[in-house]
Amino acid sequence: MTNLQKSDFSKWYIDTIQKADLMDYTPVRGCIAFKPDGYEIWEHIQDEMNKRFKETGHRNAYFPMLIPESFFQKEKDHIEGFAPELPWVTEAAGEKLEERLALRPTSETMIGHLYSDWIKSYRDLPVLINQWANVFRWEKKTLPFIRTSEFLWQEGHTAHVDEEEARAETMQMLNIYKEVVEDLLAIPVYDGQKTPSERFAGAIDTYSIEAMMKDGKAVQAGTSHYLGTKFANAFDIKYLNKENKHEFVHTTSWGTSTRLIGSVIMVHGDEQGLVLPPRVAATQVVLIPVGPWKKNPAIMEKLDEIFASLKEKGVRVRLDDSDQSPGYKFNEWELKGVPVRVELGPRDLEKDQALIKARDEGEKEAVELSGLVARIEEELVTMQARLLTKARAFRETHSHTHIDSLEQLSKHITDSADSEEIPGWVLAGWCGDDACEENVKETTKFTTRNIPFNPPATKSACINCGNESKHTVWFARAY
Ligand code: AMP
Repeated sequence: MTNLQKSDFSKWYIDTIQKADLMDYTPVRGCIAFKPDGYEIWEHIQDEMNKRFKETGHRNAYFPMLIPESFFQKEKDHIEGFAPELPWVTEAAGEKLEERLALRPTSETMIGHLYSDWIKSYRDLPVLINQWANVFRWEKKTLPFIRTSEFLWQEGHTAHVDEEEARAETMQMLNIYKEVVEDLLAIPVYDGQKTPSERFAGAIDTYSIEAMMKDGKAVQAGTSHYLGTKFANAFDIKYLNKENKHEFVHTTSWGTSTRLIGSVIMVHGDEQGLVLPPRVAATQVVLIPVGPWKKNPAIMEKLDEIFASLKEKGVRVRLDDSDQSPGYKFNEWELKGVPVRVELGPRDLEKDQALIKARDEGEKEAVELSGLVARIEEELVTMQARLLTKARAFRETHSHTHIDSLEQLSKHITDSADSEEIPGWVLAGWCGDDACEENVKETTKFTTRNIPFNPPATKSACINCGNESKHTVWFARAY
């Protein structure tokens, strides 16, 4: 067990994001300011997602933030699910509005209203649109990035001729999420289906990717929904098929949010604070002169040269020539999670070498100057892969596949607490009954995360009632 797990993880998390200067609180509850180093992680996520969305035929558009109340009333499950979290605009320019307007929690309703107009014939389908926007959900408990009242996200909204095509789209987007989160953020995820109680309000089926944080809790890192014809019925989205008959479209929606930033912090961070995967780090490499470098102009000349070469290679590099001590700088850039640090002093120059240190490794490495740029580029790639491997190993260690009854689960939780271990995730059977799921939650605070497509084992008995299991499910405490 690491000190990080033993310590107060929530405090560690807040300290880490503040020391790394990623965000700030505002006087509005649950609404945070994204500072440049935090926002840039989001920009890298956006770039990668946009690339994959466009490769698969999607285009970006933008819809209004204010949604008339009557739109929400049209889909009964949707309003039931979202009503408790909606903030409303009731007045504008000093006058009470005739109809109050919600700050969007998601845009199915506004988009459904418009699609009913945009879609007339089978020739108009599929509609493949994504929006980058802010949304509002007045959450009772908030935590920066992970759960905020206003958050940034992308929401895809597509319409299709039939169920088969819409379901294929739902899966395609879930796959893209899995690939981006694993490749770009180095976070391993389980993809699978949500149980009915955890479904998106208004969906026929919800699928998710779930990630394990360093305190063993789960984060739902992205969701993709098959909405069937529910929104098409509610908003009258019909098309004329080839036989000239009216049919309802089948729709999907899918979303990932700035919660992903929080997940990166909680998956890779260590005792010193933030550790960023190279692909999303605002600064990937920092160059620091050491020793009596001010008396030796050759040091800065060499560093300028290295800086220019790295820039040319597309590496996001910073040169820290401020008058702070090297020790102070090392610490500061470690807190910022910068993947690779390069040190160069007079003695190194004499030996025709520089020292490099990867943020997640203990040892410094001496590298010959002629091969330095290539070695740094290589280390950025290696570190990216290493972080994913470490996160997978961590998840493996804290995944439990031999807990088959509520008694065993309760004992596991008590034993973990006694030995100051994290309880992690538990793979167990479930008969499909909501009451069993609810009882596990009430007794242990473990909730169903998803029914993984590729579980590491299959389970035959329900963890709660012992009857035959219909599904093998991940149970965990979750954010
Ligand atoms: P949903 O529309 O409910 O399926 O949400 C889509 C995604 O947004 C979820 O999978 C989460 O990753 C993320 N999300 C939901 N609620 C919040 C929140 N309050 N703060 C940040 N991210 C959120």
